[in-house]
Amino acid sequence: MKRPHYKRIVLKISGEVLTGEKGYGIDPEVILKLAQEIKEVVSLGVEMAIVIGGGNIFRGVAASSKGMDRATADYMGMLATILNGLALQDALEKIDVHTRVQTAIEMREIAEPYIRRRAMRHLEKGRVVIFAAGTGNPFFTTDTTASLRATEIGAEVILKATKVDGIYDADPAFHKEAHKYEELTYLDVLKKQLKVMDATAISLCMDQKIPIIVFSLKERGNVQKVVLGEKVGTEVK
Ligand code: UDP
Repeated sequence: MKRPHYKRIVLKISGEVLTGEKGYGIDPEVILKLAQEIKEVVSLGVEMAIVIGGGNIFRGVAASSKGMDRATADYMGMLATILNGLALQDALEKIDVHTRVQTAIEMREIAEPYIRRRAMRHLEKGRVVIFAAGTGNPFFTTDTTASLRATEIGAEVILKATKVDGIYDADPAFHKEAHKYEELTYLDVLKKQLKVMDATAISLCMDQKIPIIVFSLKERGNVQKVVLGEKVGTEVK
């Protein structure tokens, strides 16, 4: 049996991954498949924390560009991540994966508040911890949340699951000739202004030397491949 490369990981799931072909909201089929993949990885003995995005429902920047107060819009974005977090928890629990949702904005009736030590204890017990509501602060992103939480809980890597199979020098959806990078340094990403993660998220990973692997969830089994050390997507280190 292959052994996982990592003991503790943070899986960052962008909200857009959950929409499937609909382009908006949550597709129950997509989320069930995702849950199955997560189960497979957890059964390898990997401790997994998940940071979930909210862009499939609400994005603060987009709303503020249309005139909404940015902080208010960002709080709405954070609430959107909680919706996604609960949907993912539901899908995981249905297939007997034990989970806890922890929110950075208190909502005690439906989830635990974020408590670092408690999150780590859950992970040690083999539970999947879903971090929702981002960092709890406007003007940040869930990518930064992934970097922050990975640092706090001592994760060895961030797996960033998206709809694209790695990092390109141009958007492959619009540019046929776009080139995919196998590996990049944090500074490359910052200098070339590649749209992988925002600069805050990248800088924190650079300071803490946490590698980021960007890959697509469209191909079944990719999370497991990455965890087993197969070369998938693009690695930033
Ligand atoms: N957000 C925020 N602070 C955070 C994390 C998220 O204000 O620490 C808000 C922000 O408005 C963002 C929205 O939540 O647009 C959804 O998160 P994000 O865009 O990172 O989700 P993703 O792109 O991963 O789906």
